[in-house]
Amino acid sequence: MFRTWWRDPVDYRALVETFESHGALGRFKFMLGAGGLVMLLIAVLASIAQGDVAGWVGQVQGGVEAAVAGLWTVRWWFLPWPREVESLAWIVVFDLDTTANDLLVHDRVIGVLGVVLLTAMGAYITVFHGPRVLALHIGWTISTSVVLAFLMFRGAMADASRGGGHEREDLALGLAVVLVMVVVVGVMLPFVQFCHWLLRADALSDPLTGLLNRRGLDAHLSAHIGHCRRESAYVATVDIDRFKAVNDTFGHLFGDEVLTGAAERLRAAAEPDALIARTGGEEFVIVGCLREDAAAVGERLRAAVETMPGLPVVITASVGVAVLDGSRASGPYDVAAYRRLLRGSDSAMYRAKRRGGNAVALAGRDEPPRRRRKPSVPEIHPEEAELRGGFVWPPG
Ligand code: GH3
Ligand code: MG
Ligand code: MG
Repeated sequence: MFRTWWRDPVDYRALVETFESHGALGRFKFMLGAGGLVMLLIAVLASIAQGDVAGWVGQVQGGVEAAVAGLWTVRWWFLPWPREVESLAWIVVFDLDTTANDLLVHDRVIGVLGVVLLTAMGAYITVFHGPRVLALHIGWTISTSVVLAFLMFRGAMADASRGGGHEREDLALGLAVVLVMVVVVGVMLPFVQFCHWLLRADALSDPLTGLLNRRGLDAHLSAHIGHCRRESAYVATVDIDRFKAVNDTFGHLFGDEVLTGAAERLRAAAEPDALIARTGGEEFVIVGCLREDAAAVGERLRAAVETMPGLPVVITASVGVAVLDGSRASGPYDVAAYRRLLRGSDSAMYRAKRRGGNAVALAGRDEPPRRRRKPSVPEIHPEEAELRGGFVWPPG
């Protein structure tokens, strides 16, 4: 599970869209901008407090700090939410600027307080970026703390040689800074991020089959954009035929096993990089890159369900496939294009169903779907099943 977390490429865009759909993005923007204003205030206060002892390097750094903080505020308050690359760029600028300030500032206690700002940035990364970016930031923050502790130690030693007598306190403070940073940034932030990832993964998946659910498919669609590059993309909708009769005849538990089995078969039949979701009760959607004939893809998915082993009846499905031609796409795929495909594959699937089921239909083509065989689930009502001695699942 930890490996999956580490490897999971965080879908920054989907995350931002989720917050936006709940109206939270505006508040986040305000908060982040206000954070910049506080930094600006700290930079001004620090430069007043240090007066001329900081030297010109300190003065310049104070000015840079104030400018970055001001820019940060203007950016968050007056521009739309940044793209992922810009967000990462701001993290780099912030980390470099804060560390420079922490190490150059004359009063080491102010330097220690400055390290806390790196923790605040860690919280932002924890929510919006993945474990790898967080690991880099943690490494940077702890390194800054270690260098700061070393500077305090060196200062304490110099103080001792002049008979200052504060070396023990300074040494303890330096060590405390490093330890607190290791616990807070090195342990707590990854812990919070892991929990955040786990809860989100849970909310985006279907508990019965382990596939994505409708929300999960939506969340992953934008990440799939560009994945097919110049290849065509396809969306296939697969709906089990007469599933209500399966439930009514063999019971809900059996129905659940059919759904789990169908999910496994579809996963095995689709390409390894395809997105597979259970978007409704007995409806599945597969989004992938088209590397063969669309009819062949549909046929593979249809056959995967029909040949499900270990069942007392043959279960069949109707399949609709819609294709987005990569070579003719004028620009990059967008979510709207995928949604059009989804609608196309859904209506193609209904076309296959109207023609008897257990068939494949292609969106935008009028030819009758290739009919296979009649769905083999007998139409038995529960009362009738009971009259016949009932049906017990699982057997034995
Ligand atoms: P068609 O051939 O036209 O697709 O008909 P159908 O019976 O497959 O479709 P319909 O929409 O009439 O019925 C779907 C059924 O799926 C009804 C519902 O009870 C059942 N269902 C939905 N979710 C689950 C589930 O999680 N487990 C089980 N066992 N059944 C479910
Ligand atoms: Mg159905
Ligand atoms: Mg259905």
